[in-house]
Amino acid sequence: MKKCIINGVIITMDDSRNIIEDGFVMIDGNKICEIGKMSDLKASGDAELIDADGGIVMPGFVNCHTHISMSVFRGLGEDMPDRLRRYMFPMEDEILDERMVRIGARLSLIELIQGGVTTFCDMYYFEDEVAKAVKDFGMRAVLGETILSKPSPDSSEPYGGIEYAKRFISKWKGDSLITPAFAPHAPYTCDDNHLMEIRRLADELGVPITMHLSEMLHEMEEFDSKYGRTPIRHLEDMGFLSEKLIAAHLVYVDDEDIMVLKRNGVGAAHNVVANAKSGRKVSPAPAMHKAGMKVGLGTDGPMSGNHQDVLSLLGYYTKIQKQAALDNRICSAAEAVELGTMGGARVLGMADEIGSIEKGKKADIIIIDTSAPNIQPVYDYYSAIVYAAHPHNVVMTMVDGKVLMSGRKLMAMDEKKVLEEVSEVSKEIRTFAMELDRRARS
Ligand SMILES: [Zn+2]
Repeated sequence: MKKCIINGVIITMDDSRNIIEDGFVMIDGNKICEIGKMSDLKASGDAELIDADGGIVMPGFVNCHTHISMSVFRGLGEDMPDRLRRYMFPMEDEILDERMVRIGARLSLIELIQGGVTTFCDMYYFEDEVAKAVKDFGMRAVLGETILSKPSPDSSEPYGGIEYAKRFISKWKGDSLITPAFAPHAPYTCDDNHLMEIRRLADELGVPITMHLSEMLHEMEEFDSKYGRTPIRHLEDMGFLSEKLIAAHLVYVDDEDIMVLKRNGVGAAHNVVANAKSGRKVSPAPAMHKAGMKVGLGTDGPMSGNHQDVLSLLGYYTKIQKQAALDNRICSAAEAVELGTMGGARVLGMADEIGSIEKGKKADIIIIDTSAPNIQPVYDYYSAIVYAAHPHNVVMTMVDGKVLMSGRKLMAMDEKKVLEEVSEVSKEIRTFAMELDRRARS
């Protein structure tokens, strides 16, 4: 069964950044089979027509780093110093269960799809629940089970996440939409021996690894005093780095770190809004991109970045980077769109399959309604996407050739039912949070 998106401005994000005004995209099954101008569209036969109505038709966004199930905790413990260790870890250790992970994942999936995200990379506990939700919604994702040196919500043993991940990977490996992965939390929460065991297993099983890296000041100080070098240099000497690593944050990196990451093929998930919110240094993401590294954008979890869509990150990315550099030439609007689409595809090792609208690629496509007052008039398409559009301007989201959202309505999911479940579970969380708040602030 074919589908044809007609009457759109096709922002392809291919190598030459081709834009086709008044164009169409033909989809056969889950793949793009033809792109062209409306005047060249031959009789589309029995293809189902999707009218873009003059809007922007572009590749779906790729969110390279998040913890989607944390949406049930969104807004808790804001502005607390050392929030990860004083608030988030105790919250997860004491009340997080499979049900919360499932409900949180479903809530975030609605937000992601409505915001035009078609692929994301997740790291959390009970990741099998996330995978089932992703499958129900029809999204594409890299899903990593978190591994920690302490007992965690789904494991009574330190590093129990390794065994969970092995089971999880054997269950989901080969799935058309889900790429299972290992997710050691960070080099400061996993020791060298376990990191190398994970690297060996990831090679053996042919799966990616995703990990927070060079994100915390205490992490940098710890590696400096223990080894006299940065975590990135330490991990390279150890033989841990590879093109299979999706590294989140990379805030505290110097020029030599960038060369090390580049020569090892490590992908960077730049979490511009979450980093700004937590008062960290601005990551040198444009320098990484310029050096030829794979760079994409991530929201981080809904406690850190609060929202999950990538569209809102684009403007923050250019504005924060320009301000930090005191130079408006450091990154362009088109580069921001590239990082949010093709860049993310490269980081996740999916550049041959997604990230652009090209013949033979998977049909992960969105439509942005440009007739809205907050976007009109449109003189420059990249500017319209990066500086004017909001997630609510996304009116169609397609993943793998399937329409998941049209006219802001989810096709296969009852949004109201999900929100009722969220409301129910939030009562329990609120009670516990009040107690935790007292403890954390005392
Ligand atoms: Zn994170």
